[in-house]
Amino acid sequence: MLMYKRILLKLSGEQLSGEHEFGVDPKIALYLANEIKQVVDSDVEVVLVVGGGNMVRGAEMAGQGIKRVTADQMGMLSGLINAMALTDIFESIGLPTRCVSNIFAEQIAESYSYRLAEKHLERKRVLIVAAGLGRPYFTHDTAAVSIALELDCERVLKATKVDGVYDKDPSHSPDAVRLAEVTFQQAVENTEIKVMDKAALGLAMEQHMPIIVFDAMTPGNFLRVVSGENIGTTIK
Ligand code: UDP
Repeated sequence: MLMYKRILLKLSGEQLSGEHEFGVDPKIALYLANEIKQVVDSDVEVVLVVGGGNMVRGAEMAGQGIKRVTADQMGMLSGLINAMALTDIFESIGLPTRCVSNIFAEQIAESYSYRLAEKHLERKRVLIVAAGLGRPYFTHDTAAVSIALELDCERVLKATKVDGVYDKDPSHSPDAVRLAEVTFQQAVENTEIKVMDKAALGLAMEQHMPIIVFDAMTPGNFLRVVSGENIGTTIK
């Protein structure tokens, strides 16, 4: 019995690059395509937001003549490049997918509109919303929460490489403990919890949008989460 009718999955650009330092690892993309297909085949509508941190992060790219606004736009275009790769790879395994972009790129992707997004979802297509929110000074995490609210998704599922939120950074502290549930307040106040930026958490808290952080690299986990299994960490 599946818990949700429509969810938003957030993937980071870094996850897509897998073992490569840069760009998209087709093996990882194919793996994710199959994980998502299992969920779509179970009749859950999937909205996907993919970041661009594997190519450009605005705050890091800005400087030496490149304006922050331009750098942020480059970051959003990186997300669009990732989305283009995923669209093709998803369709190659028979998973109907549409990429809509929040930056006008008519020759490449349809422009995002609420009505168009709804139409694709009603037709059981995976909807990849690319290029963040189309505005600088945001991240793809914030875009994910905003788009999940707009499209009435029941949860934001944040795919990570670790199996949830820890009380400390597990890569630095071997005694870190995984938390099954944390409140938005804890996630915002605890500086050790770095799973999402504060703007994204703040919006989710204000609008009561629960976020589930889970390890997407364990096969079957995505389906387990939408089946309501208690894995990962729920922030609510
Ligand atoms: N970005 C932006 N507006 C948005 C979403 C993203 O300006 O609505 C830019 C920002 O510069 C960010 C970059 O795109 O650093 C890449 O996105 P992000 O770092 O969130 O990617 P992820 O960590 O999810 O791969």
